[in-house]
Amino acid sequence: MFNIIIFGAPGAGKGTQSERIIERYGLRHLSTGSMLREAIEAQTPMGIEAQRYIDQGHLVPDALVIDLIARELETHPDVPGYIFDGFPRNVAQAQALDVMLQNHGYPVSMLLALEVEEDELVARLLNRGLTSNRSDDQSEDIIRNRIEVYERTTLPVMDHYRQQGKYHGVAGMGSIDDIANRVAQTIDAYINVNKNR
Ligand code: AMP
Repeated sequence: MFNIIIFGAPGAGKGTQSERIIERYGLRHLSTGSMLREAIEAQTPMGIEAQRYIDQGHLVPDALVIDLIARELETHPDVPGYIFDGFPRNVAQAQALDVMLQNHGYPVSMLLALEVEEDELVARLLNRGLTSNRSDDQSEDIIRNRIEVYERTTLPVMDHYRQQGKYHGVAGMGSIDDIANRVAQTIDAYINVNKNR
């Protein structure tokens, strides 16, 4: 089992780079943001509850996303590994993920952090908002709020995995292909170092 957390601020390119990683390594994509947007689209009770938070750029309650991930891990035990995108978003979620994976007998392999400057993040998200219809990409205030939540609440997740020796940073500026190449080099180096363990 090879499990990656793709990490970075809103707009860092986690979804885009996840697609490239999936193509290359065949991992299963677990994006809590996408799962929540599907639930909103279907207007399930969980989706209706989540929408209140998402529209303001706040995090939804931990129990809700932890439950989504737990159910996915139960239903797809036979995959070569997972790529966690947008989860964990705080240290409590990281601790819950560590326990869930431990119970399944495999740990987080690496946290791959895409590093992008703030002005570039805002520009990318406003641009995405023109075509994506995402309620939380429409206003600069809400975008800045999401970046602030990231810095205050989500960044400590990086230290959580740094302490476990699992942090790998990748420069997230430049073309999608260039970033994808840097990501692949980082993952390949990890696989090479760990193949005989
Ligand atoms: P994303 O697509 O990952 O940018 O997520 C969009 C929004 O969904 C976030 O701004 C949060 O409101 C919510 N969300 C996604 N993942 C999580 C999570 N792990 N914990 C709490 N809220 C989340």
